Amino acid sequence: MHVPLVVTDFLDRAVQLYGEKTAVIDGDRRLTYKEMNGRVQQLSRGLKSLGIQKDDKVAYLAPNTLEMLEGFYGVFQTGGVMTPLNTRLKPADYIFILNHSESQVLFVDLSLYDQLKQIKDHLETVHTIIVHGMADDANGDFSYEKWLGQFDDGPFDREPLEETDIASLLYTSGTTGDPKGVMLSHRSNYLHALSTMHHLGVSDRDTLLHVLPMFHVNGWGSPFYYTANGATQVMQREMDPALILENIHKEKVTVAHMAPTVLNMIMEQNAHNKEPLKLEQDMRVVIAGSAPPVAFVKRTEEELGWKFIQVYGMTEISPLITTSQIRSEHLDKSTDEQYTLKAKVGYSMIGSSVRVVNELDEDVPWDGKTIGEIITRSNNVMEGYWKNPDATSTTIKNGYLYTGDMANVDSEGYINIVDRKKDVIISGGENISSLEVESCLYDHPAVLEVAVVSVPHEKWGEVPHAHVVLREKGGATEEELIAFAQEKMARFKAPKGITFLEELPKTASGKIQKVQLRQPFWQDRSRTVN
Ligand code: ATP
Ligand code: MG
Repeated sequence: MHVPLVVTDFLDRAVQLYGEKTAVIDGDRRLTYKEMNGRVQQLSRGLKSLGIQKDDKVAYLAPNTLEMLEGFYGVFQTGGVMTPLNTRLKPADYIFILNHSESQVLFVDLSLYDQLKQIKDHLETVHTIIVHGMADDANGDFSYEKWLGQFDDGPFDREPLEETDIASLLYTSGTTGDPKGVMLSHRSNYLHALSTMHHLGVSDRDTLLHVLPMFHVNGWGSPFYYTANGATQVMQREMDPALILENIHKEKVTVAHMAPTVLNMIMEQNAHNKEPLKLEQDMRVVIAGSAPPVAFVKRTEEELGWKFIQVYGMTEISPLITTSQIRSEHLDKSTDEQYTLKAKVGYSMIGSSVRVVNELDEDVPWDGKTIGEIITRSNNVMEGYWKNPDATSTTIKNGYLYTGDMANVDSEGYINIVDRKKDVIISGGENISSLEVESCLYDHPAVLEVAVVSVPHEKWGEVPHAHVVLREKGGATEEELIAFAQEKMARFKAPKGITFLEELPKTASGKIQKVQLRQPFWQDRSRTVN
């Protein structure tokens, strides 16, 4: 028997087994799985009435909300393609993504509606705008609740789908260039969900706090694997550490996925609480998106009492392919050794083949030193970049996706990310990790933020150059910082120059855009890896 793997199955299971259970909590609003499912049927009917059919793009511009969660399933049932937008982009980026994706219907949260009104005239394909949280129709746009209320909530006659049909079009963060539209199939989302729920131990006893935005790929898989398990999902609209802690306490949250910067804010907040929170239950926190220092892992586990799990991935692979949960044979290691392992990105999740290879595509030795590129092969991998076949063929080749992330592997097979390929500095034939130079400079008390990039050099080809934001103006000089680095690390790795800046250029998800810092130095030359 062949049954296509389509993600609508996940909600069906939850409704059948957990119909009366709370599916979603958004502030004061609560819906059971049955109630949410009724709204999903209404939404699919509404979309069909607007002409949405297979492969049509439906865009969402919203923080984590109940409407966004039901939107996933409402869109999938019509065969439409869920196209979420990052809410922290600039109006010009919204115009680019909405036109480039050829989105037809746009759902927008009331909190972002004013920004949208400014760009309406520039939208080429969007024909209908529906506003979450708006009491009445206005400016030719619809109030979501009024619009939804017209449609029947009985079972919707779904569009038959193949598992290779596209479920979602997600734009990358734009850290290394323009954001690219990643096409993920139903199968890729489905298999990614099965694998991740296994590795994170997701069950019907879980209450998830959606801290990572659902529009971004790090938070993307959660609406699949927590729904499939009939878990309760709590919506976190704002990244306010006090509100996050309050929600965790009030709703008895058992799991949250977040960026290290948010976890850092929570730890600071908790340290200042009169009664610091240490939850009795089995709370785990899942971290993605950046390799945190070991001390950070230790603080999470010891101060907050939360189990730390690191995962690694990228938009192009659904996203997650590795986890750093300690394997049973390593549980007899000391606590500190286990923290060191958890600070790495770990080993492959089931369903993904993950390798670290040299330029000849040979596996690097597991010696904790030799650096290679992470490549992966699985059904998680995207169908390609939307309307960009050239970028697709440079990323997926020889049956593998080339991540552009450089790493080494320790003797037990835990992968440790060293840098992005584009950010490694090749100086006199030696590879210098920009992250290593940065973490050295971070130890200087005057430094608030730092980004190290390669600049051309007559003798060495390239040398490291640091861009530094100081905690206080004049807190350190260029000579002082260079001398500090030279003392702490091999001389050739220390930066040869420093530029002081008020702030570093960042993407909407907070990643530093090194390409912008590098460009001015390379204007009249070409770099092998750009
Ligand atoms: P763009 O592709 O547009 O330049 P981006 O690569 O930042 O942007 P994402 O898909 O959001 O877009 O991020 C994936 C990247 O994030 C990975 O390639 C990797 O460099 C980094 N990353 C993800 N997880 C981790 C992790 N656990 N540790 C270190 N880096 C990570
Ligand atoms: Mg990328």
